Amino acid sequence: MLGAFIYRLELKIHGIVQGVGFRPYIYKLAHKYKLFGHIYNDGNGVTIEIEGDEKNISNFKEELKNSTPVLSRIDLMQTKELELKNSTEFLILKSNQTSISTMLSADITMCDDCKAEMYDKNNRRYNYPFINCTNCGPRYTIIKNLPYDRDETSMSLFEMCSECRQEYENPNNRRYHAQPISCFRCGPKLRFVSIDGDKEIDEEKAIQKICLLIKSGQSVGIKGLGGFHIVCDASNEKAVSELRLNKNRPTKPLAVMFKDIDAIKKVCSLTQKDEELVLSKERPIVIVTKSSYIGLADSIAPNIDKIGVFLPYTPLHEILLQELNIPLVATSANLSDEPIIRDEKELFVKMPNVIKNVLTHDREIVNACDDSVVLNSSTHILMLRMARGYAPQSFYLKKKISKNILALGANQKSTITIAFDNNIVISPHIGDLNSIEAFEYFKTTLDTLKRVYKFEPDVIVCDKHPRYETTIWAKEYVKEHKNIELLEVQHHFSHALACMAEYSLDEDVLAFCFDGTGYGDDGKLWGGEVFVVSAQKYKRVYHFLELSLLGGEKAIKEPKRVGLSLLFEIFSLHEILSMECEFLKAFTKQEIKIFHHIYIKGTNTPKTSSLGRIFDGVYALSGDGVNLGYEGESGLILETQSKDSSSEEIYSYTLENGVIDYKEMINQIVIDADKTDIAKKFISTITNIIVDIAKEYPTLPVVLSGGVFQNATLVSQVTQALKEMDREYYIQSKTPINDGGISLGQAYFAIKKDG
Ligand code: ZN
Ligand code: ZN
Ligand code: FE
Repeated sequence: MLGAFIYRLELKIHGIVQGVGFRPYIYKLAHKYKLFGHIYNDGNGVTIEIEGDEKNISNFKEELKNSTPVLSRIDLMQTKELELKNSTEFLILKSNQTSISTMLSADITMCDDCKAEMYDKNNRRYNYPFINCTNCGPRYTIIKNLPYDRDETSMSLFEMCSECRQEYENPNNRRYHAQPISCFRCGPKLRFVSIDGDKEIDEEKAIQKICLLIKSGQSVGIKGLGGFHIVCDASNEKAVSELRLNKNRPTKPLAVMFKDIDAIKKVCSLTQKDEELVLSKERPIVIVTKSSYIGLADSIAPNIDKIGVFLPYTPLHEILLQELNIPLVATSANLSDEPIIRDEKELFVKMPNVIKNVLTHDREIVNACDDSVVLNSSTHILMLRMARGYAPQSFYLKKKISKNILALGANQKSTITIAFDNNIVISPHIGDLNSIEAFEYFKTTLDTLKRVYKFEPDVIVCDKHPRYETTIWAKEYVKEHKNIELLEVQHHFSHALACMAEYSLDEDVLAFCFDGTGYGDDGKLWGGEVFVVSAQKYKRVYHFLELSLLGGEKAIKEPKRVGLSLLFEIFSLHEILSMECEFLKAFTKQEIKIFHHIYIKGTNTPKTSSLGRIFDGVYALSGDGVNLGYEGESGLILETQSKDSSSEEIYSYTLENGVIDYKEMINQIVIDADKTDIAKKFISTITNIIVDIAKEYPTLPVVLSGGVFQNATLVSQVTQALKEMDREYYIQSKTPINDGGISLGQAYFAIKKDG
């Protein structure tokens, strides 16, 4: 008898396929095409067996290729024909976990279905602040271990009620195996707590209480997904400046959470791309351009035309913003240089002057996680902080590696990268490792990665800087673990490699690595480096003329010191003392003489080729040399000022013997009167320098990496120019372009060394 050809197929799928609704999706797909067999989670991802008509199997595979659950990602699918087993149904089998290499998902913003239910008066989760489903909700922040099961999360303490259990067990339900599933009856509870012990456990009253305090101009703490936010009314100047004063954060911009996209558009001009980023499922903080200063406190982002905006990403935020109907400052609760705080007791101990009241709940945050920050430069998306929504970020390597690699990153904007089998995993942003707390957080993050992925390193990679906490730790660690290999990679080489890793580049490249400072091979501070990178090596073909950091670290906070040292490079003390220059009013004659003495003697005055510091110096020379509140502020201010200039000119420089000599530029800046022109001409000059050097190496693709490329104007200009030259170029957009990307670059070095 002639009939359809029946066969059985096994599909092994690697990628992000657990905890993202993959099994019920396949279950429904199998039913749709009348296929029998089973699916289960295993250490590599999922294994599917399907049996049925050839045509149906082909349709099944076609649909699987073209539409998968939103949060899933298929890295690899291996298929194999099997003997017929004559199955008569399709089953979801218990997981078979032997090894772990399935990827952990980041936390995801509330989905539209959940939002609709939350606003539906007849739904049993009406106004429920912890509503979630397979397509949304917490992941990384509640996970203790893989496989991702409720028992291995901080939801294990909440026993499901019968209604939730039914949803959880029904493959046709959106909440099938949604591990954080809960409802008013069985889930976490909100409560209001104040520093003097005042409590409110009635959820509605707790929300009302916190809203009243915000409206009265107070700063309060609100427990989010990965830690606490400090929140206040963003339209209330007094509230915002008090928050700044109490938190000792003079100028660093504060992020603002708005009720919806229309509320953002009232005060910002969004490009199409900005809007997409704001509304994306990752819901990062997006740096956009302010269009109106009405309705927002001036001190939210002083001296710059940009502001970080985002939308509610948890049901709790959604409820609060609806209730309040005002924009909220929402900044991570932490002391400077310390990690985000996860529980209210610590908050009250550490910040009693800032926070006296909190809205909290009893679902533990297992892994802290900050908000992500992104910027669209008109040509490229730049990842400034990779955390909630994006991280842990994983990449699939086509070639399996033989060693387990642990890369420790830099000292600032720290992240950790691990690589094993076919995987690279980058941790969320950890932060600056200058405090004991921050280093503890670094170790906790490392422990989480080791535990979740059952990972032990064969190779550890660190920076060459002998005083980075991570370098010290690595050297101690390999002393105790003699079988572990230690690799040290130069900081700016790592920047280049990070970009190469993101694009899987293997060929030789010309890399512009421009940043603050990093430890150079000659023991000096580098930061304005041009490398030809080939295979495991790099050659430093250009660097900016070195300048002196008068007083070392102090010069980073006080850019006027950098401005002055730039003048010392060109003029004699006598010439400077008789100069008529606005900038010099920041010093007394006596101070100039003392600084000159320090400069000549070289005491505590390291040399650096850092472009970041040159930005500081130019900022100082163009203005009144006010102190900076945060790293990168000078770049942002110059960028803002440059927009008011129509100058098409650039400054002079020379490229000789591997040195980018900008002395003539300083000479011209001192004469230039208009600070907007100075800013514009300076940024254009940097663009020209890049283009000129690129022309010297016409066959090499260009790589742009390092913190200086967080400057949107510079990135737009440079990439535009390279496009016009028809030049191949690469700039990171999925991974941090600043020091947050260093660990990825380090790991890539070890991967390539592995073969
Ligand atoms: Zn949902
Ligand atoms: Zn329930
Ligand atoms: Fe760097």
